[in-house]
Amino acid sequence: MPALKDYWLLVLEDLKTKLTPSQFKTWFALSEFVEMQESGRKIVITVPSDFHKQYIDRRFRKELLESVAKYYPQVIHIVYKIVKPPETEQKIQQSLTLEPAADATNDKSIEDNSEPEKISTYLPKKSLNNLNPKYTFENFVVTRSNELAAGVANAIIAEMGKLYNPLFIHSKVGLGKTHLLQAIGNKTLEVKPNYNIKYIPAETFINQWIISLQKKETNYFREYYNSIDLLLIDDIQFFAGKESTQEVFFHIFNYLHQNNKQIVLTSDKPPQELIGIPERLVSRFNSGMVVDIFPPELEDRLSILRDKVARLNLLLDDQKIFKIAQAINTNIRDLEGVLNKIQARIRLMPHLEFTDQELESLLSVYQGQITNPDLLTKSVDTVTPETILQTVCRLFSIDKSDLLGSSREKNVALARQIAFWLCKHELDLSYPVIGRFFGGRNHTTVMHGYNKIQELLQNDHKIKDKIILAKKILSKQC
Ligand code: ADP
Ligand code: MG
Repeated sequence: MPALKDYWLLVLEDLKTKLTPSQFKTWFALSEFVEMQESGRKIVITVPSDFHKQYIDRRFRKELLESVAKYYPQVIHIVYKIVKPPETEQKIQQSLTLEPAADATNDKSIEDNSEPEKISTYLPKKSLNNLNPKYTFENFVVTRSNELAAGVANAIIAEMGKLYNPLFIHSKVGLGKTHLLQAIGNKTLEVKPNYNIKYIPAETFINQWIISLQKKETNYFREYYNSIDLLLIDDIQFFAGKESTQEVFFHIFNYLHQNNKQIVLTSDKPPQELIGIPERLVSRFNSGMVVDIFPPELEDRLSILRDKVARLNLLLDDQKIFKIAQAINTNIRDLEGVLNKIQARIRLMPHLEFTDQELESLLSVYQGQITNPDLLTKSVDTVTPETILQTVCRLFSIDKSDLLGSSREKNVALARQIAFWLCKHELDLSYPVIGRFFGGRNHTTVMHGYNKIQELLQNDHKIKDKIILAKKILSKQC
């Protein structure tokens, strides 16, 4: 008759049928049976970390209880005992996923003629970690769409190089990969100040490697990266097709991994979908923990917006926040983009209420109604309706009071319309707001003026020159 402990293996087999292979491997592969308690009503099993315990209990309790009930029918409660996997076992696991050592030593594709001690300008000082302090765990809002990634990112800090190595985070753009990657670095810097941490976008890594090849400093390059304790590479998909970079990275990866140095990678796709990356690297990427971040649901977007609105001290009522969350379902970068624009608009004209109408016109950009992508990147730092007013008055040699007043004199009317056009084009303000700023004019007057200038711009060189000059003055180029 099988021992009580043996049934645990059957439980695990049963769980395998309910979970994806990566879920099973991540959460249950290391769990073992410990004992039964309270006449078989409690089962004690091991988990490798507190994070496992919490996550399993929250996400897989139902599945686990069902599988347990099949083989231990009296059990009504599961007790988790945290037992860190012995390092030797981890080493065995790692070596199973590594290719033979010969793979590394027989490699003749990289010529190393250089002297290792050279100082290189293209590699930042060893002490420079490239971390941006603005990305922290504190300001990363945890939602259902990113909770696994955020949880694992947090969890590896206490177990650097041991728990999940590498950690591979993937998602579409603007969903927080860089933020999390940098947060891992910043947090580590805080708790392990002596760690050699390096954040590096994959493209920079590629460029550094190319220069080191040209300068025949490949030894130095390898040595530089081999000395890192925590290597954070962003957007690893750019390694696609870069065979020589892949080669050197493969060796660096193996070296760091074998020395229990933590590696975290981000990508826009899961490892197996990366095209142009060789299988041996894909299998390395898959060998630790792979987590993804999903596009945020409405509820997630709401909580992210609320958090950001509070941090920016923006006076936005909940209805407006809701409208933004509803309209923008792409990614968090776009949510931030809208908030930044609102903040800029409120800063420019603090005395004018930010209306629903303005919000709608702003959101329409994201609904594809305005197609000029320039508008999204315009700098609003120095240009304001006030500076536009001054500039236009200067260009046309007229008084502010004329421009803001009711004069219909041709020169004044044209200047006014150019001012409208600039406010729309440079600041992307709505017609009603521009109208209110320029002496309380109706929004249709502004729209008409804007359209007229837009038309004149097609073939009236004088108008074109005036606008070019105005823009130069506004950007302080003359
Ligand atoms: P990715 O690298 O996936 O393209 P980023 O990390 O650059 O995305 O995120 C885009 C922007 O959204 C950044 O400014 C980042 O700070 C912000 N962001 C993303 N996710 C969150 C989150 N969960 N909480 C707060 N800000 C976030
Ligand atoms: Mg990024």
